[in-house]
Amino acid sequence: MKLLILDRDGVINQDSDAYIKTLDEWIPIPSSIAAIARLSQAGWTVAVATNQSGIARGYYDLATLESMHARLRQLVAEQGGEVGLIVHCPHGPDDGCDCRKPKPGMLRQIAAHYATELAGIWFVGDTSGDLQAALAVDCQPVLVKTGKGERTLAKPLPPGTLVFADLAAVADQLLS
Ligand SMILES: [Mg+2]
Ligand SMILES: [Zn+2]
Repeated sequence: MKLLILDRDGVINQDSDAYIKTLDEWIPIPSSIAAIARLSQAGWTVAVATNQSGIARGYYDLATLESMHARLRQLVAEQGGEVGLIVHCPHGPDDGCDCRKPKPGMLRQIAAHYATELAGIWFVGDTSGDLQAALAVDCQPVLVKTGKGERTLAKPLPPGTLVFADLAAVADQLLS
């Protein structure tokens, strides 16, 4: 199958160092919404793996998170596309879970859901944690410069990391 996995904050929507706590604070990147729709229409399954420690910290609840994801699905559907499985890690950094990136638990969840292999699958993110999670399961690490991407670019990247301006450019490459 043609599976693409995305980080959420900083890739699909604008990131915030103050967390994204309400539906109003969830601000999509229009070209990213369009990119997901284009990929979907071309037969790609686009899944999402997102750290949401704001839940553990009590900044927002699961219902609020789900409202953001419903909005995401709606926006992509309006452009004739579909969002695949969205998995989130609700834990904090000290909870010792195996899903919070840089751990690859969410990528494994997605692979299990679709009964597919992870090797070579592109995982697109904007932080070192995303790239490390990709490497841990032999995915292709892909960095976009949106969100925290420019900051991440200033640090050493895992060997073989692909770098694109944004998700639209990733889609252009995959669809070319
Ligand atoms: Mg991010
Ligand atoms: Zn977790």
